[in-house]
Amino acid sequence: MILTLLATLTVAGPAQDTIVFQQGVSYTIEARLDEQAQMLRGRARLHYTNNAAVPLDTLWFHQHLNAFRPNSAWAMRELEYGQRRFQDLGPAEHAFERFSSVEIDGRAVTPVYPGAPDSTVVAIPLAGSLTPGASVTVTMDWSARPSTLPRRQGRAGRHYDFAQWYPRIAVYETGGWQTQPLLPQGEFYGEFGTYDVTLEIADDQVIGATGVAISGNPGWQPAPGTAEPLVMSDFYAGTAPQPLGFLTGPVAPGRRRVHWRAEDVHHFAWSADPSFILESGQTPRLGNGGGSIAVHVLYRPADQDWAGGVALNRSIAALDWLQRLFGPYPWPQLTNLRRIESGGTEFPMMMMNGSPSEGLIVHEMAHQYLHGILANNEWRDGWLDEGFTDFVTNWYHEDQGRADVWAAGMESVRGLERRALTYPIARPGADFPDPAIYSAMTYRKTGLIFRMLRDLVGEPAMREILRAYYAQNRMQHVDEADLRRAVNQVTGENYDWFFQQWFHTTDTLDYAVGGAHLQQMADGRWLTRVDVLRLGQAWMPVRVQVGDQVRTLSSRDRRQTLEVITRSRPAEAVIDPDEVLIDLDISNNRVRL
Ligand SMILES: [Zn+2]
Repeated sequence: MILTLLATLTVAGPAQDTIVFQQGVSYTIEARLDEQAQMLRGRARLHYTNNAAVPLDTLWFHQHLNAFRPNSAWAMRELEYGQRRFQDLGPAEHAFERFSSVEIDGRAVTPVYPGAPDSTVVAIPLAGSLTPGASVTVTMDWSARPSTLPRRQGRAGRHYDFAQWYPRIAVYETGGWQTQPLLPQGEFYGEFGTYDVTLEIADDQVIGATGVAISGNPGWQPAPGTAEPLVMSDFYAGTAPQPLGFLTGPVAPGRRRVHWRAEDVHHFAWSADPSFILESGQTPRLGNGGGSIAVHVLYRPADQDWAGGVALNRSIAALDWLQRLFGPYPWPQLTNLRRIESGGTEFPMMMMNGSPSEGLIVHEMAHQYLHGILANNEWRDGWLDEGFTDFVTNWYHEDQGRADVWAAGMESVRGLERRALTYPIARPGADFPDPAIYSAMTYRKTGLIFRMLRDLVGEPAMREILRAYYAQNRMQHVDEADLRRAVNQVTGENYDWFFQQWFHTTDTLDYAVGGAHLQQMADGRWLTRVDVLRLGQAWMPVRVQVGDQVRTLSSRDRRQTLEVITRSRPAEAVIDPDEVLIDLDISNNRVRL
């Protein structure tokens, strides 16, 4: 009894990993895009295996497209911020995703929307309980449409950005079903699985998608003077689509079907535009697996800033750099395509980007690792992908020789701290009071915290940490415990205090020079005594520079006195000379001697 109790307590500890199994997910989808009706209709069959230790009586899905319409939780939240965007979309403009039939193992069931009028979270009750190890097959007929006002999906003319377009099974983990209405702050979380997707489209459409084109013609037209694409159709050799009976019979004139497949991905996204042209290249996969990764860039002829290899070369350079940082890119292909909306959104094996800017490409490419391969829950732990990605992106820019990449973020975070507008970072994105603070905490402050960690453990150890985090968790769900474990294992020290302080509190750090005294010694050298005060609640080891000498203070004492001997007369003493620390007030960090 005592043993059992102890075991329970151990598992419940806050730093314990909650992710110990993953559900089995396999999707087969057949869908037809009817541009006249501005509508996609499809049938999806999900084969779902319960790998949890407890039985399930309900399957939960997300229908995220229903966020982009009036009265959704998203639209309501925007009203709180004084924004009228999706709330005002008309019947022909808003997005939707609705079932026409749902069957479980051949038996019709009625979906339940407990959050109505929001319909982004839907429950499908099971007839009996799905016991550990058992499987169930769900067949869903549905129709869907992106919104004319784009947000991580959209449609404009004949261009369609289809993301979150099918009923997407929610993640079930030790903490239970991970469902949440889609809200402006915080994104997605998905189960890894296999996707077998057949799309029927107008014959002149050009498609870019998660996955590789197994058969049929995706419509890729090489841009003038560019190479024929590397088509990875044999990467998943031996897999044939299991017909669902939705796309049956011969293809109608003016139409065409393309069959796609992806494995070990937690989402399948695609875009179509008849004017897309393709630039393609390839790059070696690092590591023992070897082989090549096909890199495809799709843009419209009018997007001249993408052309001439600009977007393609940036994509390949970012992918190569990230492979060296984390480890081999596991999938056969990467597609970077021009979406309707500005900015960018990451999906496994693809990114939808609004521009070919290097910063955007590196950011979304970094998400291939930090979310695609290392799949965190974006609405619960936004910092673990956005802030981590911000850090990695800035590191890339540093490697390109840019030194000023941190200054702007540091200044804005300090400004928020001085006005006491900070919040603990490790909290659901939707719990931040507004988009600006969400973004400052989740992206910028977190990026600066990762930079402090790199400075603290040293760059070689930081590289080792990222490789360990990748190697231990690739193709799995991750949370803070996984990252902490990698940090502690690689360094051989316990950095839990660092995570606790920086991600779970709003404690601020403020080192200050309390006083300094300089005297020349009998041998002609100079002795400097500096009083260093720790004024804030937070603590970090801190470097102090006196003349050409640098010392690190590692005590938590509120007042420390440092003695430094220099050959020549030092001009000043400076705390944290590289400005790595998120130090609330740097005006008290230096003193003239
Ligand atoms: Zn991002």
